Amino acid sequence: MTTITIFSVPCTNPSPLSSPKRFRFNPQSSAQLSPTSSLPLQTPSLPKTGVIVIGAGLAGLAAANHLNSNNIPFLLLEASDAVGGRVRTDIVDGFLLDRGFQILITAYPEARKLLNYQSLDLQKFYSGARIFYDGQFHTVADPLRHFWDSAKSLTNPIGSPLDKLLIGSTRIRVLAKSDEEILAAEEVPTIALLKKLGFSDSIIGRFFRPFFGGIFFDPDLETTSRLFDFVFKCLALGDNTLPARGISAIPEQLAARLPSGSLLLNSKVVSVDLNGSETPLVRLQNGDVLRSKLGVIIAVEEPAAVQLLAGRTGPVPKKPVRSTVCLYFTANRDKIPVQDPVLFLNGSGKGIVNNMFFATNVASSYGPPDKALVSVSLIGVFEGVSDDELVGKVIEELRGWFGGRMVAEWKHLRTYRIGFAQPNQCPPTDLKKNPRVESGLYVCGDYLTSATFDGALVSGRRASESLLKDRALSPS
Ligand SMILES: Cc1cc2nc3c(=O)[nH]c(=O)nc-3n(C[C@H](O)[C@H](O)[C@H](O)COP(=O)(O)OP(=O)(O)OC[C@H]3O[C@@H](n4cnc5c(N)ncnc54)[C@H](O)[C@@H]3O)c2cc1C
Repeated sequence: MTTITIFSVPCTNPSPLSSPKRFRFNPQSSAQLSPTSSLPLQTPSLPKTGVIVIGAGLAGLAAANHLNSNNIPFLLLEASDAVGGRVRTDIVDGFLLDRGFQILITAYPEARKLLNYQSLDLQKFYSGARIFYDGQFHTVADPLRHFWDSAKSLTNPIGSPLDKLLIGSTRIRVLAKSDEEILAAEEVPTIALLKKLGFSDSIIGRFFRPFFGGIFFDPDLETTSRLFDFVFKCLALGDNTLPARGISAIPEQLAARLPSGSLLLNSKVVSVDLNGSETPLVRLQNGDVLRSKLGVIIAVEEPAAVQLLAGRTGPVPKKPVRSTVCLYFTANRDKIPVQDPVLFLNGSGKGIVNNMFFATNVASSYGPPDKALVSVSLIGVFEGVSDDELVGKVIEELRGWFGGRMVAEWKHLRTYRIGFAQPNQCPPTDLKKNPRVESGLYVCGDYLTSATFDGALVSGRRASESLLKDRALSPS
């Protein structure tokens, strides 16, 4: 076993609390944290400590960015071969395959602060959806962005005119509240909120179940009303988008800002031990042991965090996690039914497809010229159903939507089964959980806030802030 001690030179100022300024570092020093570098550890001019962040999903990347902008050296350890965690894109035969259907809502407040939208080259979806119900498609549209489409949809069977007015009043209700208020408001399951607001069973079954059920991977809409209100507000204020280079462009942008040498891929952490000190010992699967003087931020997904924390936090969550399957098909661009960047929802209450869209209609960069990329999402993992069977069922169902001849020409490209897509966020929830486990040990991830890109980014910043506060290093 190799033991690598990071900046463990005897500290001339043992209490960081007494001299905060002494711990402000040059960002370049982050690079020196790599365990493969040979550090002149006894040189007194070297920075004395650093932070270890475990997990380079959005939460870990946000924590690392926050530390970096406060000139705190850190090392970011990631088990897999790339950054992003659940936000990854594979390139297959010239197609960009996001690992599951994911969208960036531009109004996410933390994302707006942290990300450079312009360089993500965001491509917009149509603000509404086309719903398959009773053998036909019906449009629902945002009246502020597509007034005439919305007016025409007033009499369609997706909901009554009253339902459509209620959507307007829900919009006013959520816009009147701050995000803080929304995330800490009294909560009920989303389904209970919708019924209380007076929405009819028709619009709940035909629109809310496939739309919000698809966002939460929860067709029963048991997810907290806090999350519903938060997402509804963001949808009202922003656009649904895809980065032109794939959803992984988001974490890649955050990673590109980090100092070179501060990120180690293929570095799985197997344990974190405090050993009664405030400087946890981090053991890697390859046998390396790292020590950090300022503390450790565990930024892994909830099930992995439970293992690493080994009983140091409260009871293990028992609610079922949220799962999804995403199937990709290819077609010739002239062999798809529409060219619009619109999301299709299954409002029929039958079948296994929840939603689908033609990714190349939203961002043509998602496929080679002349080729269309079809993305189909199911909710659940479909254990016991083979990939071939799933492909067969999906194709059969979509033949009923778009016609047999057209769909028969689509070719299956890849299937992603995502067992852990999101933590369960049914009431009771605490969407502002304290990131501090104890002095020197912090957690972040979407399970501490809202299970969204934004929640993960917020949680990373908060964990870093909490660490800086404990060490009396006020964030700049
Ligand atoms: C299919 C799908 C669709 C989604 N759609 C949306 C959407 O449209 N909009 C939205 O806002 N949100 C969406 N989400 C949710 C969003 O992606 C997550 O909430 C968010 O990305 C979680 O980020 P995280 O950093 O908390 O966790 P993760 O992304 O899970 O990152 C954790 C990281 O820790 C690493 N790790 C784990 N264990 C170890 C270890 N022992 N040592 C080192 N590293 C380790 C993992 O490899 C991973 O990189 C979707 C999620 C999925 C799966």
